[in-house]
Amino acid sequence: MLTSICGINWGDEGKGRMVDLLSEKFDVVCRYQGGNNAGHTVINERGKFILNLLPSGILREDVVNVMGNGMVIDIKHLAGEMAKLKEAGVKISPKNLKISDRAVITMPYNVLQDCLEEDRLAGKKFGSTRRGIAPVYADKYFKKAFRMGELLDPERLYKRVADIVEWKNLTVVGGYHAEKVTVEEIVSYFKEYGEPLKEYICDVGLYLNEANKAGKNIMFEAQLGALRDIDFGIYPYTSSSSTIAAYAPIGAGVPNLQLDNSIGIMKAYSTCVGEGPFTAEYFGDKAKRLRDLGGEYGAATGRPRRVGPFDVVASRYGIRCQGATEIALTKMDVLSDYEEIEICEAYMLNGKTITEFPFTDVLDECKPVFTTVKGWNCDISACRKKEDLPKEALDYVRYLEKACGCKIKYVSVGAERDAYIEMY
Ligand code: GDP
Ligand code: MG
Repeated sequence: MLTSICGINWGDEGKGRMVDLLSEKFDVVCRYQGGNNAGHTVINERGKFILNLLPSGILREDVVNVMGNGMVIDIKHLAGEMAKLKEAGVKISPKNLKISDRAVITMPYNVLQDCLEEDRLAGKKFGSTRRGIAPVYADKYFKKAFRMGELLDPERLYKRVADIVEWKNLTVVGGYHAEKVTVEEIVSYFKEYGEPLKEYICDVGLYLNEANKAGKNIMFEAQLGALRDIDFGIYPYTSSSSTIAAYAPIGAGVPNLQLDNSIGIMKAYSTCVGEGPFTAEYFGDKAKRLRDLGGEYGAATGRPRRVGPFDVVASRYGIRCQGATEIALTKMDVLSDYEEIEICEAYMLNGKTITEFPFTDVLDECKPVFTTVKGWNCDISACRKKEDLPKEALDYVRYLEKACGCKIKYVSVGAERDAYIEMY
């Protein structure tokens, strides 16, 4: 069975937490896009972990983890992430971690380019995480990137470095007047951080096809949400890759296989990191209250997240993009403090009410239309069955389910692995 776990909103919906929970029933977990700009928080009996590159299944001993061709991999960052987990007692070996030979390597000069460009933009910046993601994806499509499989033949790889460095300096030195990149530093970088990864690099598509034939359950773990997808998100305030479930088999290495289902992770309210239109946004005290209740500070960067109430318009669109067959609603417990809860049920555009998510530029003109429902105003973090939920909490779930047109199968009421309710 092939299942994707994807984000319905702007990211940070709690995908890592849900993957960690649901991976119990899976044999393989694959990351299929993005790089170390992800921050997936997993809390379980072994402690608290923030994963940037490694699939969240790495914390379960019997799960095989795959880093697919759709990813961009900062090999220095990966070395650090693996070392940290090993220190905490997590076993990582070629048996439980397989890296696609076709995945692209995020280079130090990509990180440099990202920083140079964000600095140049100053007040008009995109809110990049400065991890080199946009430049490395650009290099991929320029066909000037290095891929993980090249690390397996260093002689050949080092020969290519001079050409690429020459080309990159046209931008770094010629465009930004920064210090030039040298062949020596790139070669020694590959030696230091690439060599130790060699044993993990393989044709993951071959492995995944065999696993599928053997009846294994395969999960695809997305980074970021639908609204950050390069095509369907709030471009240009998006990530640089496809976060969409339909891309998962492609980005993981099995374009020949099709998903059996798509579980959308949706937050009980809205959050958004970085720039871009965010129609239902709260400001001032209202925002601070929700941000503090939800602990909404970025896992990868520590940046305060922008917050707002649940947005039906954006979430319905997210569900459509992800082809979600069921939903896991997260962070319901965060709303326990409210006597009344606002929901953004439509947008007002030039005096007209709209309920379909519009083209990005149009969003600048949209104003939120809020409706208010009764809150449950009591702690629900210990609820484990549907029957444990107060009536108002159940009503809230049903309201969202109806408004969004998708079954809410799970409700998460805490960050810990067992803090959830299965609704069906
Ligand atoms: P991701 O990027 O989608 O994996 O999400 P993040 O890990 O960046 O952000 C989600 C945050 O919410 C993390 O700190 C989680 O530990 C936490 N979290 C996840 N689910 C719940 C929940 O149901 N309740 C609460 N209170 N926290 C949660
Ligand atoms: Mg995150």
